[in-house]
Amino acid sequence: MKEKIKYLRQLAGEVSDLDHTAAVLGWDQQVNMPENGAEARSMQLATLAGLAHGKFVGEDMGKALEDLKPFLKDLDQDSDEYCLVTRMSEEYEKQKKVPTAFVAEFSRVTTMAQQAWEKAKSKSDFSKFQPHLEKIIELRREYAGFFAPYDHVYDPLLDDFEPGMKTDDVRKVFEEIKPQQVALLQEIVDKGPVIDDSLLYLHYDEDKQWEFGVDVIKKFGFDFTSGRQDRSVHPFTTEFGHGDVRITTHFDTEFLGMALFGTMHEAGHAMYEQGVSKSLSRTMLHHGASLAVHESQSRMWENLVGRSMPFWKAFYPRLQELFPENLGNVDLNQFYKAVNKVEPSLIRIFADEMTYNLHIMLRFDLELAMMEGELEAADLPEAWNNKMQEYLGITPPNDAKGVLQDVHWSGGMIGYFTTYALGNLIASMLWEKILEDIPDLQSNFEKADFSPLLTWLRENVHQHGSKYKPMELVKKVTGQALTPEPYMRYLRSKFGEIYGL
Ligand code: ZN
Repeated sequence: MKEKIKYLRQLAGEVSDLDHTAAVLGWDQQVNMPENGAEARSMQLATLAGLAHGKFVGEDMGKALEDLKPFLKDLDQDSDEYCLVTRMSEEYEKQKKVPTAFVAEFSRVTTMAQQAWEKAKSKSDFSKFQPHLEKIIELRREYAGFFAPYDHVYDPLLDDFEPGMKTDDVRKVFEEIKPQQVALLQEIVDKGPVIDDSLLYLHYDEDKQWEFGVDVIKKFGFDFTSGRQDRSVHPFTTEFGHGDVRITTHFDTEFLGMALFGTMHEAGHAMYEQGVSKSLSRTMLHHGASLAVHESQSRMWENLVGRSMPFWKAFYPRLQELFPENLGNVDLNQFYKAVNKVEPSLIRIFADEMTYNLHIMLRFDLELAMMEGELEAADLPEAWNNKMQEYLGITPPNDAKGVLQDVHWSGGMIGYFTTYALGNLIASMLWEKILEDIPDLQSNFEKADFSPLLTWLRENVHQHGSKYKPMELVKKVTGQALTPEPYMRYLRSKFGEIYGL
């Protein structure tokens, strides 16, 4: 069996090398590449995607997996080997249904679409993006078709990001949480007065913002000997193999919140990747369990840590020192309220914790409608604006601040947004468990000591990579199935205090 495992790992390693090579090119595309490089890059990425897919679903892989199945009954179900064979077999069966030519075509179409989206967004002109989106929706329907029969056409898409999750599960959770969030938001809006956060929208020197962000994430535990930070228009995290995790940050010299929380967010993703056990290297398990679990990590560091009072007790004096002209006369409490202001707003990535999930539910509704064929790409801007009015009571002044704000659809990532909201729920479930295990957790934050938190996450979540399916992992760690209750308790307690409800 040892020989057979070794052979499987060799095959998995070759696929992983191709994927990581593509990741380097994808990173370069967003960080360094000149505009005119798009076409050549789209071909290179398509070639690599095709090669990786072809190798993964090849006969050698199929046979290697088949040969190992008889040994599964002798293996410990928590062992790397058991998880590798079972998870890879599932993925193999799934990917085998998708023709390699489709994978390459999808990669080519989405690389070009991302470039078109950037232009469309900068000119706030949806018509420049519309034909690309039409093609993407067509390809996504075709993709879902490979997995027919399904309960819902959205199921196969969701499963790529959240293995095992069904459209109906998401719908139920969203239906449970939506009225509670809307009611709490209304309570806050009724209560008034509005918090003044204008201090965040002053001029903040970019180099000093960079310095502060690096200082924070170093204290969090982001390892710069196994990672680096660069700038990009749309912040993201990517991984090139064990020991090389990249994050990017977008700076706005007129808005402190952008890079400040963006950096913490991406570092949360990156520390998850940096914490995966080395024994899973060069396999598909050497990644976070799913996007929702990933988002639970990024949003935990960004919000539960980075927007908490204990955190700012430690870091606010340093921020004041860097920006005395803006913050010298602003006290800690005022600053804390500013970074936790609740207000319905246009842009998802700047949304506060209270309204954030409403942005996601809006996208979920629109994605379902597009996939079901109820909504045409041409009608999307209008549908978007109507939903914004319905959910948040505001209407975008233009498409750049509306339907064109996110990169995801241009990358073909329909089904992805849902995981952000699920990530919020999982973060709170984990948080309650962490506080049970480490009751004085937050008093460490006041001393800028995050090691008890990171150690707990490493041990319970990070090291496992994707050995377990996301909901299996959540159950294993918290003892519970997915529930929105901890998240609602968190919102009520935190914002109840800030707004005096
Ligand atoms: Zn994220």
